[in-house]
Amino acid sequence: MSLEKTLVILKPSAVQRGLIGEILHRFERKGLRLAGIKMMQLDDKILNEHYAHLAGKPFFQRIKDSMMASPVIACCYEGVDAVQVVRSMTGATNGRLAVPGTIRGDYSVSAQENIVHTSDSPENAKEELARFFSPEEIFDYRQSTLPYLNYADEYQ
Ligand code: ADP
Repeated sequence: MSLEKTLVILKPSAVQRGLIGEILHRFERKGLRLAGIKMMQLDDKILNEHYAHLAGKPFFQRIKDSMMASPVIACCYEGVDAVQVVRSMTGATNGRLAVPGTIRGDYSVSAQENIVHTSDSPENAKEELARFFSPEEIFDYRQSTLPYLNYADEYQ
């Protein structure tokens, strides 16, 4: 168990379909602490870094175009084991295969237009947060509900 921060990006598919509020609501209800949030227009440079692991794929340019189609909402969430918690809430990459109850399972029918990006490991979360947020954009306030979300041993 460890207190972690993770990156969530609400993709153009979420912004255009009017799902911003619903998705943020899910993370709020779960009990994650919102540590940073902003609207951004992504560009080729940041996407080449962000999706470097997909550079050889035939759909590489297409997913970059899809991520630049409108501004996105970038969020930093914090919680105990937040990377795994958020990944579980995200569901499988292909929205048609993602289990109902997950974000992609509930809102996506596509492998590409799949509503959210979420970090897939603690190492990648650190790297991605540094890519999308400057240190002043991450707020370390104390969540007053913390004692009702976790017992003290879980987050200390
Ligand atoms: P995830 O977003 O689940 O971590 P990846 O890192 O493998 O998955 O892929 C990054 C993004 O690239 C996916 O979220 C999706 O938008 C897009 N993508 C992945 N695989 C495909 C595919 N086969 N066809 C089209 N787009 C894809």
